[in-house]
Amino acid sequence: MGRAASLIASASTRRLEGKVALITGGSRGIGESTARLFSKHGAKVLIADIKDDLGQSLCKDVDSVGGTASFVHCDVTKEEDIENAVNTAVSNYGKLDIMFNNAGTIDQPKPSILDNTKSDFEKILSINVIGAFLGTKHAARVMIPAHQGSIITTASVCARIGGAATHAYTSSKHGVVGLMRNTAVELGQYGIRVNCVSPYLVPTPLANAFLKMDDEAKLVFYRYLNGAILKPEDVAEAALFLGSDESKYVSGHDLVVDGGFTIVNPDFC
Ligand code: NAD
Repeated sequence: MGRAASLIASASTRRLEGKVALITGGSRGIGESTARLFSKHGAKVLIADIKDDLGQSLCKDVDSVGGTASFVHCDVTKEEDIENAVNTAVSNYGKLDIMFNNAGTIDQPKPSILDNTKSDFEKILSINVIGAFLGTKHAARVMIPAHQGSIITTASVCARIGGAATHAYTSSKHGVVGLMRNTAVELGQYGIRVNCVSPYLVPTPLANAFLKMDDEAKLVFYRYLNGAILKPEDVAEAALFLGSDESKYVSGHDLVVDGGFTIVNPDFC
């Protein structure tokens, strides 16, 4: 292989070379896959989660295959934890290039608004929306002086349609898309891009807990299109694009990863 060809090959296989990424909710599921993929593409990764044991063993795994990862305990509802996580990324690795606000949770189905309580909403919004707000705010704090950065938040197809999840969860995912749009407008002047990634159902512990049905019945939901099941790795690929310089002109965008679900099922419920 000639020098030019090998440079192109290495650029395309190490799309985050030299970058530093912080991933909330990185201990398992979509966050874990993203941590592995980002590391494979040359990023130094800081995993921030409340699941310390899972996160620490993931870091060992990443390090054992030549990557660089570390863990910080972080409850995204606590501003001091997010502030500390961002500061740890900077002190461990010198900067922060990619903030992935991915931590999230879902509540059990309560179909009627009449059954929902204020505390149901407070719990979901505090993790899914306030957590993303705090992550965005503290990432911006260090990205603004650096005049660069990519902030990505995991929304959901529930940010596009009603009736696919609970009232609180659906509200929270619409909320993070709104936050993303506002901050994309504000932070563009500093060279910071802000986007969302919106997956369809991915068989992670979160989705399995939500779909209270046997495994056979779950497959009907998971195998939505052409029998294909969306994997955490597929969502990680979308986050990789948004984190890499290949998306340098993409900001204010909600990248839907749903195999077309939301366009063919506008009234799914
Ligand atoms: P998951 O439960 O496997 O992983 C979520 C991670 O977030 C866990 O490691 C958990 O410990 C962490 N977390 C939860 N609360 C936290 C907090 N307060 N502070 C820090 N970390 C916290 O779930 P997942 O499916 O990988 O979900 C990741 C994101 O993707 C969530 O935002 C979720 O809403 C979104 N999403 C998931 C699906 C799906 O079908 N799995 C679909 C669309 C969107």
